[in-house]
Order: sequence, then structure tokens, then C-alpha cells
Amino acid sequence: MDSVNLDKAVFALSEAISPQINCTDCGNCCKSLMVNINNQEADNLSAHLGQSRAEFDEKYLEKGESGRMVLNAIPCHFLVGNSCSVYEHRFEGCKEFPAFHVKEIKKRLFTTYMHYDRCPIIFNVLETLKKDLEWQYVSE
Ligand code: SF4
Ligand code: SF4
Repeated sequence: MDSVNLDKAVFALSEAISPQINCTDCGNCCKSLMVNINNQEADNLSAHLGQSRAEFDEKYLEKGESGRMVLNAIPCHFLVGNSCSVYEHRFEGCKEFPAFHVKEIKKRLFTTYMHYDRCPIIFNVLETLKKDLEWQYVSE
């Protein structure tokens, strides 16, 4: 199967499977992802929390020399139980996960498989795909 058709198949499975899974019963991505955030997102959430950017950055962010910013805790600071306490202000990386709508899944197979045993959406999409495509184990 070529890359375009694989993307289509994965997207279709994700569309069918995701509504059957309640992320608020899970929260596993929030317990294991390193979340990248940008300045706009930090501005939005710090304003929502009533904190200055300096205070927000000090509490929640780690900054790399390249300017890259990530949340400084795993699980995420904002996870309460299995739910996001700042859902309306969560970051793009959180909204995108597991990113089955993003093209070229073939280039993200490693990172997708990293979450295979944590994310029920990924697990079910890949397991269904394996059956649909009749994947077979090939020994060397
Ligand atoms: S901001 Fe919310 S959705 Fe994003 S990782 Fe944290 S708890 Fe999860
Ligand atoms: S790990 Fe997957 S199923 Fe669980 S909350 Fe995250 S996206 Fe939803």
C-alpha cells in the first residue's frame, strides 16, 4: 500500500474508532507525552490561570537553547484524575495526539508504536489495520 492510501486507511479507522473511546477514562497521553508549546499557547494559558508569563514559565516550562519550550513535568501539571483541567486552553500537541489525521504516518511509525500500549486509539487502529491488510510476520 502506498503512503497516500495508508494515510487514508489510518484516518478512516481513526474516525471510526476514536468516538468509541472515552479519553477522560484514560489520560495516558497526558501521563507520558513530552508536550511542546509555543509562546502564544503559553500566553493563553497563563492568562487563563491569572498568572504572569514569568510566573507561568518558572512553574511549568523548560526551555532549550533553540527556544524550544516543553512542559517540565510528566505526567502533565494540568492532569487531574484522568482529565485535563485546562481543556479549553490545552496545547496543539495535545489536540493533535495521536495525529492520525496528519499525513505521512509512514514517517511517524516509530513514535506511533511508542504509544501503542498506552493509547487505546492507537492500539485499536493498528490492530484493525493489521487485520485489514492481512499483515504477516516475516522472519529474517
Ligand atoms: S494540557 Fe491537558 S491535554 Fe495537554 S497533556 Fe496536559 S492534561 Fe493532557
Ligand atoms: S492515550 Fe489515547 S485514548 Fe488515552 S486519552 Fe490519550 S488520546 Fe485518548
